[in-house]
Amino acid sequence: MNVKTRFAPSPTGFLHVGGARTAFYSWLYAKHTGGKFVLRIEDTDIERCTQEAINAIIEGMQWLNLEWDEGPYYQTKRFDRYNAVVEQLLAENKAYKCYASKELLNEIRKEQIAFGTKPRYDAYHPRVIAANTEATESSLFCVRFRNPKEGSVVFNDKIRGHITVANSELDDLIIRRTDGTPTYNFCVVVDDWDMKITQVVRGEDHINNTPRQINIYKAIGAPLPEFAHCSMILGDDGTKLSKRHGAVSVMQYRDEGYLPQAVLNYLIRLGWSYGDQEIFSLEEMISLFSLEAVSKSASAFDADKLLWLNNHYIRSLEPKYIAKYLQWHLDKKEINTSNGPVITDVIQLVGERCNTLIELAEQSRYFYQDFENFEDFETDAAKTYLQPAAKEALELALNKVKTLHSWTTENLHTVIVDICNELELAMSKVGMPLRVAVTRQSQSPSVDAVMMLVGKTRVITRIEQALTFISQYEVQ
Ligand code: GLU
Repeated sequence: MNVKTRFAPSPTGFLHVGGARTAFYSWLYAKHTGGKFVLRIEDTDIERCTQEAINAIIEGMQWLNLEWDEGPYYQTKRFDRYNAVVEQLLAENKAYKCYASKELLNEIRKEQIAFGTKPRYDAYHPRVIAANTEATESSLFCVRFRNPKEGSVVFNDKIRGHITVANSELDDLIIRRTDGTPTYNFCVVVDDWDMKITQVVRGEDHINNTPRQINIYKAIGAPLPEFAHCSMILGDDGTKLSKRHGAVSVMQYRDEGYLPQAVLNYLIRLGWSYGDQEIFSLEEMISLFSLEAVSKSASAFDADKLLWLNNHYIRSLEPKYIAKYLQWHLDKKEINTSNGPVITDVIQLVGERCNTLIELAEQSRYFYQDFENFEDFETDAAKTYLQPAAKEALELALNKVKTLHSWTTENLHTVIVDICNELELAMSKVGMPLRVAVTRQSQSPSVDAVMMLVGKTRVITRIEQALTFISQYEVQ
C-alpha cells in the first residue's frame, strides 16, 4: 500500500502546539513508511478563515521543516467537485433535499427536550414530513445524507483501539447547506478519497465525526482509510492547554529562542515514547515512530523539559545549523556580525551556557558591538571588579596584549599567567577585571578564549576604556 497522510488545518488562527504535534505525527508516519504527506487547507468557513492564518500555518510548518509532498490544496477551490458528489448521492437516493426550516427544527428540538428525549434531527417527525411534501420549486432546502438506520459503525482506531457506534445514534447529517456550501464532514471525506489518503491522523475532537464520515465513505464507494485520533494536550494544571499556560503558538517558540529540532523532539515525546529515551535525532524519530505507540491518555505540557531540550540542542547541534536560526534573532537585535568573528566560532564558545537563542544572541553582542559609554557595564560587575586595585593588572595586560605577536588563546592564557606571577596575584584578580573590561559583564566563557575571538583592536580599546572608568575613583 502506498501510504499517504495529510494535515488538514482550518485556518482560523496560528499553528498551535496541538496542531503542530498532529501534523508532525502525520508527517512522521509518512516518512516512516516511505509514503507521502499532503497539506490541505480546510477553508470552507469563509467567515472565520483568513489569509493571515493560512500564512501563519504555512510559516509554522516551514519553520518546523515539515515539508509536504503535495499541496497546499484549498477546499474553497474544490466546490464544483463537492457539488458533483452531492448530486451523485441525490441521484442515487443516498441523500435527500430537506425543506424543514431552522425555526421548525428548533421548535421540534424544544419539544424533544420537554418530552425528555434526546434532541436530534428526526426525518420521520410528522411536521418534517409535512414540510418536505408541501415544498415547492422555490422553497429553500439543504441536502442531508441518508444515514443507515440499522446496525453500527465499527472501526479500529490506531491509537484508541476498537470503537463501535450504533447508527441509531447518528442522524441525517447536512452535507450541503441552504446557501449551497458543503459542510466539513462531507468535504473531508471527498478530499481524503480524491487525495488517496490512507491514514487520517487528527485530534480527538474529531472522533465523534468519524462514524458519520465512515458511512459517507461507504455510500460514495470510497475505500476506508485508517484512523488515528491523538489525545488532548493539557497545561501543567491539568486543564486544556491554552494561552494562560504560556506560548501555544509554534511561532512564539521561535520568537522565544527555541530551535525547531528541540520543538520537534519535544512534540514527539508529548504522547509517544520509546522506552526511557528522551533525545531523538530526526532520523531516529522517523525510524522509531509508530502510531500504535502513541498514548491515548492526555499529555501534559512541560515547559521546563522543552527548555532543557533546547539547551541540549544548542550545545550539541552543528554550529552551522544553529547559526541559521540564530541569525534571525541577531537581526532582530540589530547585531551586525559582519564586523567581528565568524558566528559559528562564537556559538561554539558561548552556546553551551545558553538555554535559548535569545540568550545566545545577547551573549554574542560583545563580540560585534563596540561599547559607547560606561552605561554598557553591568553596574555590579564594574563596581566590584573595576576598582583601583585592578589598575596595575589592567595596565600590564594592556602593554602585553599590545605587543603580542601571535593572537592565540594559548598566548593570551600565558599573558594572564605572567601577570599573576609578576604581580603575585591570584588568577581571579587578573581574570575578572579583564573579563569585565572586555565583555562588560561578570560571566563569560574562559577570558583568554573570549579575548581571542573579540580580537586585538577591540581588546586594547576596551582595556583602555576600563582604565578610564577606574580613573574616576582617583578624581573623587
Ligand atoms: N480541519 C479540521 C481541524 O482543523 C481537521 C479535519 C481533519 O483532520 O479531518 O480541526
